[in-house]
Amino acid sequence: MAVSEKDCLFCKIVRKEIKADIVKEGNSFIAIKDINPVEPGHVLVIPKQHYTTLLDIPDRLGEEMLKFAKQIASELLEKKLGDGFNIIMNNLEPAGQLVMHAHIHIIPRKEKDGIRFFVKVLGKK
Ligand code: 5GP
Ligand code: ZN
Repeated sequence: MAVSEKDCLFCKIVRKEIKADIVKEGNSFIAIKDINPVEPGHVLVIPKQHYTTLLDIPDRLGEEMLKFAKQIASELLEKKLGDGFNIIMNNLEPAGQLVMHAHIHIIPRKEKDGIRFFVKVLGKK
């Protein structure tokens, strides 16, 4: 369901109406720590403008978003928060998007950390 910029959680974080732990801020993006991290160092990269999904983000801005995410990911490796990382984007509710303001998850990974993504539960409808 579409959410207005006024009521959108991430727009409120961008406007600093709601507090967040900011990792990096640029002209077009903000990176914050996820409030419920899969692993310590789990960061969300959020465009400052409100877009619902990846498909709404203009191509040029999408390129910049990837560049911004790459910076965060390389800093995560430098800081030894992980020895690898996942970049994940949930688009629309069936894919697990809860906050309807497009964002990228960057999740630090370590050997044998027990995380497994995309496990299909057989027989579940
Ligand atoms: P989604 O499922 O939409 O891709 O992920 C939304 C993410 O936003 C979740 O991982 C959730 O923990 C995070 N989140 C939800 N509310 C807040 C908040 O108020 N502050 C921060 N920093 N993260 C949030
Ligand atoms: Zn928004």
